[in-house]
Amino acid sequence: MINKTDEKKIEKIGAFEISEKMVELAKENTKGNPYLNAGRGNPNWINRKARLAFSRLLEFGIEESERTISDGDLVGYTELDGISNRFISFLNPNNNETDAFLMTCLDYLKNDLSLTLDEVVKEFVDGVLGNLYPSPNRVLNNTEVILNHYLQSVLYNGVDLANDTTLFPTEGGSAAIVYTFQSLRENKLIRPGDKIAINTPIFTPYLQIPVLNDYELVEVDLSSKEENNWEIDADTIQKLNDPELKAFFLVNPSNPGSKALNDTSLAEIKKAVENNPDLMIITDDVYGTFVDDFQTVYSVCPFNTLLVYSYSKLFGATGWRLGVIALNKENVFDKLIANLSDEEHDQLNKRYNLVVMDTQEMSFINRMVADSRSIGLYHIAGLSTPSQIMEALFSLTHLVVKNEEDSYIEASKKLVNERYENLHAALNYQKDESEKNAKYYSMINIYHLAEERYGTDFKNYLMEHYEQIDFLVNLAQKNGIVLMDGVGFGADPGDLRVSEANLPTKDYQQIGLQILDLLNDYYQTFKKNQ
Ligand SMILES: *Cc1c(COP(=O)(O)O)cnc(C)c1O
Repeated sequence: MINKTDEKKIEKIGAFEISEKMVELAKENTKGNPYLNAGRGNPNWINRKARLAFSRLLEFGIEESERTISDGDLVGYTELDGISNRFISFLNPNNNETDAFLMTCLDYLKNDLSLTLDEVVKEFVDGVLGNLYPSPNRVLNNTEVILNHYLQSVLYNGVDLANDTTLFPTEGGSAAIVYTFQSLRENKLIRPGDKIAINTPIFTPYLQIPVLNDYELVEVDLSSKEENNWEIDADTIQKLNDPELKAFFLVNPSNPGSKALNDTSLAEIKKAVENNPDLMIITDDVYGTFVDDFQTVYSVCPFNTLLVYSYSKLFGATGWRLGVIALNKENVFDKLIANLSDEEHDQLNKRYNLVVMDTQEMSFINRMVADSRSIGLYHIAGLSTPSQIMEALFSLTHLVVKNEEDSYIEASKKLVNERYENLHAALNYQKDESEKNAKYYSMINIYHLAEERYGTDFKNYLMEHYEQIDFLVNLAQKNGIVLMDGVGFGADPGDLRVSEANLPTKDYQQIGLQILDLLNDYYQTFKKNQ
């Protein structure tokens, strides 16, 4: 059993690390309940269509390779000339749903995106075969166009930026975050002591990275709270007007709050940027598709914003590691680099002129590509080509439905919504029906729940007699349920994050019931001690 001293130690580690400890406890829970882990955000669904298409491309790629060299398992290379016609002959759209999808993609790529089919098919085929270093290293040419249109369609809410945006596909959103921070620092765009704003509670890396020694940034907290339905209120957003503020890091829709910024907040941010034109904004929009008519800060402030997106959540692709960084061709990061002093330019020239002739002309996004491989390996940088093509195929599942509803995205929203409903019904907990609620996660506050069910004295007793982590620990070791501690994300004590992504839908009622069962155990102890 875990005692109070252990609990104090546990409270000091990160939310994800606490969760791992809770898993061990929950598997051996004392009530003999089934072990249920709703701590992690990994979805328990996957996108079928794009994966099947990947597999068909691979089969075709092998046939193509056999055309040039064929000696047992040693086969050759592919040829550009006529490749799209050979691909069309290979496909059997009348009898095969996946082939029909691929035909639709070809039609879309040619007619809607005006791409040259032989070149796209060659890029796709070589990409899935993985026979060439990524070239260009930042992103494959046709893939960039496809991903740009996908991001525009799902995140920009009608603002046209696809042709003005440059992309760098990365090993998941995680690598996108790491690369961004690293290059911001290397290029002296953020320095120790700089003031940065963060919308808390927030996905832990955004809290942890800025406090690591090499940054020592001063955080300005743009907090959202349960009382406010996890929205940042207008007064708080005004903190962005501070002229000393260098950067604003946000997750939108938020994690753990699961809430997208509303139009008022977006307008406030736009105003703040007018007052503070050199503000650097980093927005992580991995949950954007879970909100109807989502609008990213990038589409409101394209010059100032770097956007991070990941295919992990919507497409159930965490093992692939598929993320992307998007940055406008005209952007504040390049402007700030140009404004550095001569001495700083000299230092940066020494850093980058190992790999480029004219460092001054090197864009921030290309600096990220170089930094991601410690400069020296710039020429072999870039996301693996099979991964880039997988991103293109996931994007195409959405793009080919054009102006109609994307049934896959709708199905994903419906699924998390059902789980949200089940959990809240079992707990009889106040729901947030705002259209900005992604419902990918729920935050349940134990003190709030305690007060509602058993009154203020009981709530105060819980707060005074137990470590804030005690409920989470007991929920694991007694009831077999793992949730995530909200405090690790910068939320209030008692806030627990339930992921609606990773368990069968029927389990969410059980999670609600087990939370109430444990709360009742505490209440019985409280009554005995009265
Ligand atoms: C899950 C998550 C990520 C991680 O994305 P990966 O592509 O799996 O690395 C990034 N940001 C936020 C806010 C997330 O919740």
